[in-house]
Amino acid sequence: MLTSLNQKNGDQLSILGFGCMRFPTKNGAIDEERSTKIIHEAINNGINYFDTAYIYHSGKSEPFLGKALSGGYREQVKIATKLPPFMVTTLRSAQKIFATQLTRLQTNYIDYYLLHMLTDKAMFDRLVSLGVLSWLEELKANGVIKNLGFSFHGAKADFEEILVAYPWDFCQIQYNYMDENNQATKAGLLHAASLGIPVIVMEPLRGGKLVTDLPKEVLKTFADNAPLRSPAEWALRWVWNHPEVNVLLSGMSDEKQLAENIKIASDAAPNSLSEKELAVFEQIKSELLQKTKIPCTGCGYCMPCPFGVNIPGCFSVYNSKYLLNDKSARFKYFQTLGAMSVTPAHASRCTGCGKCESHCPQEIEIRKELKTVSRELEGIFYRPILAITRFFLRVK
Ligand code: SF4
Ligand code: SF4
Repeated sequence: MLTSLNQKNGDQLSILGFGCMRFPTKNGAIDEERSTKIIHEAINNGINYFDTAYIYHSGKSEPFLGKALSGGYREQVKIATKLPPFMVTTLRSAQKIFATQLTRLQTNYIDYYLLHMLTDKAMFDRLVSLGVLSWLEELKANGVIKNLGFSFHGAKADFEEILVAYPWDFCQIQYNYMDENNQATKAGLLHAASLGIPVIVMEPLRGGKLVTDLPKEVLKTFADNAPLRSPAEWALRWVWNHPEVNVLLSGMSDEKQLAENIKIASDAAPNSLSEKELAVFEQIKSELLQKTKIPCTGCGYCMPCPFGVNIPGCFSVYNSKYLLNDKSARFKYFQTLGAMSVTPAHASRCTGCGKCESHCPQEIEIRKELKTVSRELEGIFYRPILAITRFFLRVK
Protein backbone atom coordinates (compact mmCIF):
# COMPACT_ATOMS: atom_id res chain seq x y z
CA MET A 1 0.00 0.00 0.00
CA LEU A 2 1.44 3.35 -1.02
CA THR A 3 1.08 6.14 1.49
CA SER A 4 0.97 9.89 1.20
CA LEU A 5 2.31 12.39 3.65
CA ASN A 6 -0.15 14.78 5.22
CA GLN A 7 2.01 17.84 4.83
CA LYS A 8 0.22 19.62 7.68
CA ASN A 9 0.71 17.13 10.47
CA GLY A 10 3.10 14.43 9.28
CA ASP A 11 0.50 11.64 9.15
CA GLN A 12 1.34 8.93 6.65
CA LEU A 13 -2.04 8.10 5.14
CA SER A 14 -2.77 5.12 2.93
CA ILE A 15 -3.57 6.45 -0.53
CA LEU A 16 -6.63 4.16 -0.48
CA GLY A 17 -9.16 5.19 2.16
CA PHE A 18 -12.14 3.08 3.16
CA GLY A 19 -15.48 4.79 2.53
CA CYS A 20 -17.95 3.46 5.11
CA MET A 21 -21.20 4.17 3.28
CA ARG A 22 -21.49 0.98 1.24
CA PHE A 23 -20.88 -1.96 3.55
CA PRO A 24 -22.39 -5.25 2.36
CA THR A 25 -25.90 -5.70 3.73
CA LYS A 26 -28.08 -8.63 4.69
CA ASN A 27 -31.84 -8.37 5.21
CA GLY A 28 -31.62 -4.58 4.89
CA ALA A 29 -28.97 -4.13 7.60
CA ILE A 30 -25.16 -4.04 7.56
CA ASP A 31 -23.85 -7.60 7.31
CA GLU A 32 -21.69 -7.11 10.39
CA GLU A 33 -19.81 -10.39 10.34
CA ARG A 34 -18.77 -10.05 6.71
CA SER A 35 -18.12 -6.29 6.91
CA THR A 36 -15.95 -6.73 10.01
CA LYS A 37 -13.79 -9.25 8.15
CA ILE A 38 -13.49 -6.84 5.22
CA ILE A 39 -12.42 -4.01 7.54
CA HIS A 40 -9.82 -6.16 9.29
CA GLU A 41 -8.52 -7.38 5.93
CA ALA A 42 -8.25 -3.74 4.79
CA ILE A 43 -6.26 -2.76 7.89
CA ASN A 44 -4.01 -5.81 7.60
CA ASN A 45 -3.22 -4.67 4.06
CA GLY A 46 -2.25 -1.16 5.09
CA ILE A 47 -5.48 0.87 4.78
CA ASN A 48 -5.40 3.32 7.67
CA TYR A 49 -8.04 5.93 6.76
CA PHE A 50 -11.72 5.18 7.43
CA ASP A 51 -14.31 7.72 6.35
CA THR A 52 -17.77 7.55 7.87
CA ALA A 53 -20.52 10.08 8.70
CA TYR A 54 -23.34 10.59 11.17
CA ILE A 55 -25.88 9.79 8.48
CA TYR A 56 -24.27 6.89 6.55
CA HIS A 57 -26.27 3.66 6.51
CA SER A 58 -29.07 5.65 8.18
CA GLY A 59 -26.93 6.24 11.26
CA LYS A 60 -25.67 2.65 11.52
CA SER A 61 -22.24 3.12 9.92
CA GLU A 62 -20.58 4.86 12.88
CA PRO A 63 -21.68 2.38 15.58
CA PHE A 64 -20.76 -0.55 13.35
CA LEU A 65 -17.33 0.94 12.58
CA GLY A 66 -16.76 1.56 16.30
CA LYS A 67 -17.52 -2.09 17.02
CA ALA A 68 -15.39 -3.38 14.14
CA LEU A 69 -12.39 -1.31 15.26
CA SER A 70 -12.55 -2.43 18.89
CA GLY A 71 -9.93 -4.87 20.10
CA GLY A 72 -6.85 -2.91 19.05
CA TYR A 73 -7.73 -1.82 15.52
CA ARG A 74 -8.84 1.72 16.38
CA GLU A 75 -5.31 2.74 17.34
CA GLN A 76 -3.98 1.58 13.96
CA VAL A 77 -6.24 3.84 11.88
CA LYS A 78 -7.45 7.39 11.39
CA ILE A 79 -11.19 7.87 11.71
CA ALA A 80 -12.85 10.59 9.67
CA THR A 81 -16.45 11.47 10.41
CA LYS A 82 -18.72 14.38 9.71
CA LEU A 83 -21.11 16.87 11.28
CA PRO A 84 -24.33 17.17 9.23
CA PRO A 85 -24.95 20.96 9.04
CA PHE A 86 -28.58 20.46 8.02
CA MET A 87 -29.25 18.82 11.42
CA VAL A 88 -27.54 21.59 13.34
CA THR A 89 -29.99 24.24 14.52
CA THR A 90 -28.16 25.38 17.64
CA LEU A 91 -24.73 24.92 19.14
CA ARG A 92 -26.31 22.49 21.59
CA SER A 93 -27.61 20.30 18.77
CA ALA A 94 -24.11 20.11 17.25
CA GLN A 95 -22.67 19.20 20.64
CA LYS A 96 -25.24 16.44 21.08
CA ILE A 97 -24.45 15.00 17.65
CA PHE A 98 -20.72 15.04 18.37
CA ALA A 99 -21.16 13.34 21.76
CA THR A 100 -23.25 10.65 20.06
CA GLN A 101 -20.53 10.16 17.46
CA LEU A 102 -17.86 9.58 20.09
CA THR A 103 -20.10 7.03 21.81
CA ARG A 104 -20.99 5.32 18.55
CA LEU A 105 -17.37 5.12 17.45
CA GLN A 106 -16.19 3.95 20.90
CA THR A 107 -13.46 6.56 20.94
CA ASN A 108 -12.59 9.75 22.77
CA TYR A 109 -11.08 11.53 19.78
CA ILE A 110 -11.73 11.97 16.07
CA ASP A 111 -8.72 12.16 13.78
CA TYR A 112 -10.36 13.96 10.87
CA TYR A 113 -13.63 15.83 11.49
CA LEU A 114 -15.55 17.42 8.62
CA LEU A 115 -18.42 19.79 8.11
CA HIS A 116 -20.43 17.51 5.87
CA MET A 117 -21.43 18.39 2.34
CA LEU A 118 -21.06 22.16 2.28
CA THR A 119 -22.56 23.52 -0.90
CA ASP A 120 -22.04 27.24 -0.40
CA LYS A 121 -20.25 29.68 1.84
CA ALA A 122 -23.52 30.73 3.50
CA MET A 123 -23.77 27.23 5.04
CA PHE A 124 -20.38 27.73 6.60
CA ASP A 125 -21.31 31.25 7.78
CA ARG A 126 -24.44 29.89 9.45
CA LEU A 127 -22.36 27.41 11.47
CA VAL A 128 -19.95 30.19 12.40
CA SER A 129 -22.83 32.39 13.59
CA LEU A 130 -24.15 29.54 15.75
CA GLY A 131 -20.77 29.30 17.48
CA VAL A 132 -20.10 25.84 16.04
CA LEU A 133 -16.71 26.72 14.60
CA SER A 134 -15.40 28.27 17.84
CA TRP A 135 -16.54 25.19 19.73
CA LEU A 136 -14.85 22.87 17.20
CA GLU A 137 -11.67 24.90 17.62
CA GLU A 138 -11.87 24.32 21.37
CA LEU A 139 -12.24 20.59 20.75
CA LYS A 140 -9.20 20.73 18.53
CA ALA A 141 -7.20 22.65 21.13
CA ASN A 142 -8.13 19.94 23.64
CA GLY A 143 -7.10 17.14 21.28
CA VAL A 144 -10.63 15.75 20.91
CA ILE A 145 -10.51 16.61 17.21
CA LYS A 146 -7.13 16.31 15.54
CA ASN A 147 -7.90 17.86 12.15
CA LEU A 148 -10.79 20.03 11.01
CA GLY A 149 -12.01 20.06 7.43
CA PHE A 150 -15.04 20.09 5.18
CA SER A 151 -16.52 18.02 2.40
CA PHE A 152 -17.93 19.80 -0.60
CA HIS A 153 -20.66 19.34 -3.23
CA GLY A 154 -21.30 22.71 -4.83
CA ALA A 155 -19.99 24.97 -7.56
CA LYS A 156 -16.35 25.90 -8.10
CA ALA A 157 -16.75 29.52 -7.01
CA ASP A 158 -18.31 28.42 -3.70
CA PHE A 159 -15.51 25.93 -3.14
CA GLU A 160 -12.91 28.64 -3.62
CA GLU A 161 -14.74 30.93 -1.18
CA ILE A 162 -14.98 28.26 1.51
CA LEU A 163 -11.39 27.16 0.95
CA VAL A 164 -9.97 30.56 1.83
CA ALA A 165 -12.52 31.39 4.54
CA TYR A 166 -10.70 29.37 7.21
CA PRO A 167 -7.26 27.77 7.72
CA TRP A 168 -8.54 24.25 7.09
CA ASP A 169 -6.50 21.19 7.99
CA PHE A 170 -7.90 19.28 5.01
CA CYS A 171 -10.79 19.15 2.57
CA GLN A 172 -12.75 16.47 0.73
CA ILE A 173 -13.98 16.84 -2.83
CA GLN A 174 -15.76 14.80 -5.51
CA TYR A 175 -13.21 14.15 -8.24
CA ASN A 176 -12.92 11.71 -11.12
CA TYR A 177 -12.19 11.92 -14.85
CA MET A 178 -15.80 12.94 -15.52
CA ASP A 179 -15.76 15.66 -12.87
CA GLU A 180 -12.51 17.36 -13.74
CA ASN A 181 -14.52 20.51 -14.45
CA ASN A 182 -17.44 19.89 -12.15
CA GLN A 183 -17.97 20.84 -8.47
CA ALA A 184 -14.60 21.80 -6.89
CA THR A 185 -12.87 21.09 -10.26
CA LYS A 186 -9.20 20.49 -11.00
CA ALA A 187 -8.53 24.19 -10.46
CA GLY A 188 -9.98 23.85 -6.95
CA LEU A 189 -7.82 20.80 -6.27
CA LEU A 190 -4.71 22.69 -7.36
CA HIS A 191 -5.73 25.70 -5.30
CA ALA A 192 -6.14 23.58 -2.16
CA ALA A 193 -2.74 21.99 -2.76
CA SER A 194 -1.13 25.39 -3.31
CA LEU A 195 -2.42 26.43 0.11
CA GLY A 196 -0.92 23.28 1.62
CA ILE A 197 -4.37 21.85 2.37
CA PRO A 198 -4.45 18.04 2.06
CA VAL A 199 -7.16 16.76 -0.27
CA ILE A 200 -9.27 13.65 0.21
CA VAL A 201 -11.09 12.54 -2.94
CA MET A 202 -14.53 10.97 -2.82
CA GLU A 203 -16.62 9.47 -5.63
CA PRO A 204 -13.64 8.41 -7.78
CA LEU A 205 -16.06 6.14 -9.67
CA ARG A 206 -19.09 8.46 -9.40
CA GLY A 207 -20.85 6.04 -7.07
CA GLY A 208 -19.92 3.11 -9.35
CA LYS A 209 -21.41 4.71 -12.46
CA LEU A 210 -18.00 4.83 -14.16
CA VAL A 211 -17.97 1.06 -13.91
CA THR A 212 -21.53 -0.07 -14.43
CA ASP A 213 -23.10 2.44 -16.79
CA LEU A 214 -20.48 3.52 -19.29
CA PRO A 215 -21.59 3.60 -22.93
CA LYS A 216 -20.29 0.64 -24.95
CA GLU A 217 -18.03 2.88 -27.10
CA VAL A 218 -16.21 3.97 -23.97
CA LEU A 219 -15.84 0.40 -22.73
CA LYS A 220 -14.37 -0.47 -26.11
CA THR A 221 -11.86 2.39 -25.95
CA PHE A 222 -10.65 1.19 -22.56
CA ALA A 223 -10.49 -2.42 -23.80
CA ASP A 224 -8.60 -1.45 -26.98
CA ASN A 225 -5.83 0.29 -25.11
CA ALA A 226 -2.93 -1.33 -23.33
CA PRO A 227 -2.36 -2.16 -20.61
CA LEU A 228 -5.46 -4.24 -20.10
CA ARG A 229 -7.30 -2.77 -17.13
CA SER A 230 -10.87 -2.68 -15.89
CA PRO A 231 -12.71 0.68 -16.24
CA ALA A 232 -12.51 0.92 -12.44
CA GLU A 233 -8.74 0.56 -12.47
CA TRP A 234 -8.38 3.17 -15.22
CA ALA A 235 -10.56 5.57 -13.23
CA LEU A 236 -8.75 5.04 -9.92
CA ARG A 237 -5.33 5.40 -11.53
CA TRP A 238 -6.47 8.65 -13.12
CA VAL A 239 -7.21 10.13 -9.67
CA TRP A 240 -4.03 8.78 -8.08
CA ASN A 241 -2.00 10.22 -10.93
CA HIS A 242 -2.58 13.65 -9.34
CA PRO A 243 0.20 14.47 -6.85
CA GLU A 244 -2.21 16.88 -5.12
CA VAL A 245 -4.46 14.02 -3.98
CA ASN A 246 -3.62 12.58 -0.57
CA VAL A 247 -6.29 9.91 -0.14
CA LEU A 248 -8.83 8.39 -2.51
CA LEU A 249 -11.94 7.03 -0.81
CA SER A 250 -13.58 3.93 -2.12
CA GLY A 251 -16.81 2.57 -0.67
CA MET A 252 -15.80 -1.06 -1.01
CA SER A 253 -18.72 -3.37 -0.59
CA ASP A 254 -17.18 -6.75 -1.23
CA GLU A 255 -13.98 -8.71 -0.80
CA LYS A 256 -13.13 -8.74 -4.50
CA GLN A 257 -13.29 -4.95 -4.80
CA LEU A 258 -11.12 -4.59 -1.73
CA ALA A 259 -8.49 -7.00 -3.07
CA GLU A 260 -8.47 -5.27 -6.49
CA ASN A 261 -8.17 -1.81 -5.00
CA ILE A 262 -5.39 -2.84 -2.63
CA LYS A 263 -3.47 -4.29 -5.58
CA ILE A 264 -3.86 -1.09 -7.62
CA ALA A 265 -2.92 1.08 -4.63
CA SER A 266 0.38 -0.78 -4.34
CA ASP A 267 1.86 0.97 -7.38
CA ALA A 268 -0.49 3.82 -8.42
CA ALA A 269 2.03 6.55 -7.75
CA PRO A 270 1.46 10.20 -8.69
CA ASN A 271 2.48 11.05 -12.27
CA SER A 272 2.76 7.36 -13.14
CA LEU A 273 0.43 7.46 -16.15
CA SER A 274 2.21 7.82 -19.47
CA GLU A 275 1.31 10.41 -22.12
CA LYS A 276 -0.28 7.57 -24.09
CA GLU A 277 -2.41 6.52 -21.12
CA LEU A 278 -3.49 10.08 -20.45
CA ALA A 279 -4.47 10.37 -24.10
CA VAL A 280 -6.92 7.49 -23.54
CA PHE A 281 -8.79 9.67 -21.07
CA GLU A 282 -8.91 12.55 -23.53
CA GLN A 283 -10.48 10.18 -26.05
CA ILE A 284 -12.92 8.88 -23.42
CA LYS A 285 -13.88 12.38 -22.36
CA SER A 286 -14.52 13.44 -25.92
CA GLU A 287 -16.64 10.32 -26.52
CA LEU A 288 -18.63 11.05 -23.40
CA LEU A 289 -19.06 14.69 -24.33
CA GLN A 290 -20.44 13.69 -27.72
CA LYS A 291 -23.03 11.58 -26.00
CA THR A 292 -24.09 14.16 -23.45
CA LYS A 293 -27.41 15.85 -23.95
CA ILE A 294 -26.01 19.28 -23.10
CA PRO A 295 -22.36 19.64 -24.19
CA CYS A 296 -21.32 21.52 -21.06
CA THR A 297 -17.64 21.07 -20.22
CA GLY A 298 -18.07 22.63 -16.79
CA CYS A 299 -15.60 25.40 -17.62
CA GLY A 300 -17.59 27.87 -15.50
CA TYR A 301 -17.15 30.88 -17.81
CA CYS A 302 -20.89 31.51 -17.53
CA MET A 303 -20.64 31.89 -13.77
CA PRO A 304 -21.52 33.50 -11.47
CA CYS A 305 -25.19 33.81 -12.30
CA PRO A 306 -26.59 36.94 -10.59
CA PHE A 307 -29.63 34.91 -9.57
CA GLY A 308 -27.66 32.08 -7.99
CA VAL A 309 -28.17 29.33 -10.57
CA ASN A 310 -25.35 26.77 -10.51
CA ILE A 311 -25.41 26.42 -14.30
CA PRO A 312 -22.72 23.71 -14.76
CA GLY A 313 -24.02 21.90 -11.68
CA CYS A 314 -27.54 21.72 -13.13
CA PHE A 315 -26.22 20.48 -16.48
CA SER A 316 -23.94 17.92 -14.86
CA VAL A 317 -26.73 16.23 -12.92
CA TYR A 318 -29.01 16.34 -15.96
CA ASN A 319 -26.35 14.83 -18.22
CA SER A 320 -25.51 12.03 -15.81
CA LYS A 321 -29.21 11.11 -15.70
CA TYR A 322 -28.99 10.11 -19.37
CA LEU A 323 -25.34 9.38 -20.01
CA LEU A 324 -24.79 7.17 -16.98
CA ASN A 325 -28.39 6.13 -16.44
CA ASP A 326 -28.23 7.79 -13.04
CA LYS A 327 -31.51 6.90 -11.35
CA SER A 328 -30.66 9.06 -8.35
CA ALA A 329 -30.23 12.19 -10.50
CA ARG A 330 -33.47 13.76 -9.27
CA PHE A 331 -32.53 13.15 -5.65
CA LYS A 332 -29.00 14.49 -6.15
CA TYR A 333 -30.42 17.55 -7.86
CA PHE A 334 -32.90 18.09 -5.03
CA GLN A 335 -30.27 17.55 -2.37
CA THR A 336 -27.30 19.51 -3.71
CA LEU A 337 -28.97 22.25 -5.74
CA GLY A 338 -32.09 22.78 -3.70
CA ALA A 339 -32.51 21.45 -0.18
CA MET A 340 -29.09 21.78 1.42
CA SER A 341 -27.77 25.14 0.26
CA VAL A 342 -28.66 28.27 2.15
CA THR A 343 -29.39 29.73 -1.27
CA PRO A 344 -30.88 27.18 -3.70
CA ALA A 345 -29.06 27.00 -7.02
CA HIS A 346 -31.59 25.06 -9.11
CA ALA A 347 -32.49 25.74 -12.74
CA SER A 348 -35.86 27.36 -12.09
CA ARG A 349 -34.18 30.33 -10.41
CA CYS A 350 -33.15 31.45 -13.89
CA THR A 351 -34.90 34.71 -14.75
CA GLY A 352 -33.77 34.58 -18.38
CA CYS A 353 -31.61 37.70 -18.06
CA GLY A 354 -29.20 36.24 -20.64
CA LYS A 355 -26.00 37.47 -18.96
CA CYS A 356 -24.43 34.00 -19.09
CA GLU A 357 -24.91 32.93 -22.70
CA SER A 358 -22.40 35.19 -24.43
CA HIS A 359 -19.66 33.73 -22.19
CA CYS A 360 -20.27 30.10 -23.14
CA PRO A 361 -17.57 28.76 -25.49
CA GLN A 362 -19.84 25.82 -26.34
CA GLU A 363 -22.54 28.25 -27.44
CA ILE A 364 -25.08 26.45 -25.32
CA GLU A 365 -28.50 28.03 -25.20
CA ILE A 366 -28.30 28.11 -21.44
CA ARG A 367 -31.73 29.62 -20.78
CA LYS A 368 -33.48 27.08 -22.97
CA GLU A 369 -31.53 24.16 -21.53
CA LEU A 370 -32.17 25.29 -17.96
CA LYS A 371 -35.89 25.21 -18.73
CA THR A 372 -35.48 21.59 -19.85
CA VAL A 373 -33.53 20.73 -16.71
CA SER A 374 -36.16 22.38 -14.56
CA ARG A 375 -38.96 20.53 -16.35
CA GLU A 376 -37.28 17.14 -16.07
CA LEU A 377 -35.61 17.31 -12.68
CA GLU A 378 -38.03 19.52 -10.77
CA GLY A 379 -41.57 18.92 -11.96
CA ILE A 380 -44.68 20.20 -10.22
CA PHE A 381 -44.06 18.73 -6.75
CA TYR A 382 -40.46 19.92 -6.46
CA ARG A 383 -41.12 23.32 -4.93
CA PRO A 384 -43.64 22.25 -2.25
CA ILE A 385 -41.47 19.30 -1.23
CA LEU A 386 -38.41 21.56 -1.21
CA ALA A 387 -40.19 24.13 0.97
CA ILE A 388 -41.24 21.46 3.47
CA THR A 389 -37.77 19.89 3.53
CA ARG A 390 -36.06 23.22 4.03
CA PHE A 391 -38.54 24.07 6.80
CA PHE A 392 -37.77 20.84 8.67
CA LEU A 393 -34.03 21.15 8.08
CA ARG A 394 -34.35 24.78 9.17
CA VAL A 395 -32.34 25.87 6.16
CA LYS A 396 -32.92 29.58 5.79
S1 SF4 B 1 -29.97 33.70 -18.01
FE1 SF4 B 1 -30.53 32.60 -16.18
S2 SF4 B 1 -28.76 31.36 -15.66
FE2 SF4 B 1 -28.07 32.92 -17.14
S3 SF4 B 1 -27.28 34.54 -15.81
FE3 SF4 B 1 -29.43 35.03 -16.27
S4 SF4 B 1 -30.57 34.13 -14.56
FE4 SF4 B 1 -28.53 33.24 -14.52
S1 SF4 C 1 -19.85 28.40 -20.05
FE1 SF4 C 1 -21.01 26.84 -21.16
S2 SF4 C 1 -19.70 25.02 -21.15
FE2 SF4 C 1 -18.89 26.43 -19.60
S3 SF4 C 1 -19.90 25.79 -17.68
FE3 SF4 C 1 -21.17 27.39 -18.56
S4 SF4 C 1 -22.70 26.29 -19.77
FE4 SF4 C 1 -21.03 24.85 -19.36
